[in-house]
Amino acid sequence: VFQLSVPLNFLGSVYRELRQSLLDMETLFNLQKVNVTIKDPPKPKPLALTRGGEIQFQDVTFGYHPERPILKKLTLTIPPGKKVAIVGPSGCGKSTILRLLFRFYDVQSGKVLIDGQDIREVTLDSLRQAIGVVPQDTPLFNNTIEHNIRYGRIDATRDEVRKAAQRAKIHDLVERLPAGYNTMVGERGMMISGGEKQRLAVSRLILKDPPLLFFDEATSALDTYTEQMLLQNINSILKEKARTSVFVAHRLRTIFDSDIIFVLKNGQVAESGTHHELLNRGGMYTDLWAAQETSLGQDMELERNLVSK
Ligand code: ATP
Repeated sequence: VFQLSVPLNFLGSVYRELRQSLLDMETLFNLQKVNVTIKDPPKPKPLALTRGGEIQFQDVTFGYHPERPILKKLTLTIPPGKKVAIVGPSGCGKSTILRLLFRFYDVQSGKVLIDGQDIREVTLDSLRQAIGVVPQDTPLFNNTIEHNIRYGRIDATRDEVRKAAQRAKIHDLVERLPAGYNTMVGERGMMISGGEKQRLAVSRLILKDPPLLFFDEATSALDTYTEQMLLQNINSILKEKARTSVFVAHRLRTIFDSDIIFVLKNGQVAESGTHHELLNRGGMYTDLWAAQETSLGQDMELERNLVSK
């Protein structure tokens, strides 16, 4: 500890940024126990995105406790530039897929490849630089809104921060605050709602503009209208830049327009295809969709009754 503290203190503000980014990594995905055995290989090369960001899981087996596998010989391909969704029952391993891609853990067997390169053979730095995540719960720094957004790309201009916030549907709200972008947030600042946090996280991601984008229940705290508006904006960015994106979602209405939907069950892909292909199959996806449509109908009915009373 002593040996490390001297050069790190010497670096001053760089150290503070570094420490913050480490904190961010740790809280990202709500990881309590980050696996410290994840290291660069002996002769690492930077990840080269030569095919536009193709992701492959080949026979991947993984469990947090090896005797209890979550993914069992999982095989799937996410084509470059496409929008893909992963759905399935709670606890089936959807977020685990994203954690493996970020290399928070290594697979027990099989391979995870990005553009043909085993992610264990590239530098961790280049891997994580290529990925942007909107996690279920976004950590905020005890700092201004401006700083929290700019964290996506430290050298972004004032204007770029505002443009990103606009696309993430949070700009108008920030502008209405007395201190605007200088409003302090985080534990010691203003309390902000789950939905506002999610939009700050999306602004960060838009600024970072990585080749691979992962959304883990990223809009779950928003009302239906704001969620739709935000998803439209995200979709147009993804299309415009031909980015590979992976959405983990419970509510199928938020992902039904995906190029491919993977339905997970028992650690494997039970079904995959577009929304219409899956509905025509009449399998698990059809059941999930029917169940959600029914409950959506009931919610709307309830709302109508409340309004009319
Ligand atoms: P949800 O839809 O509820 O978010 P999910 O499909 O994303 O679920 P994961 O978060 O991938 O599921 O978790 C898969 C399984 O692994 C669950 O049974 C979960 O309890 C377990 N799990 C997740 N993280 C850990 C961990 N750090 N240590 C041990 N078990 C874990």
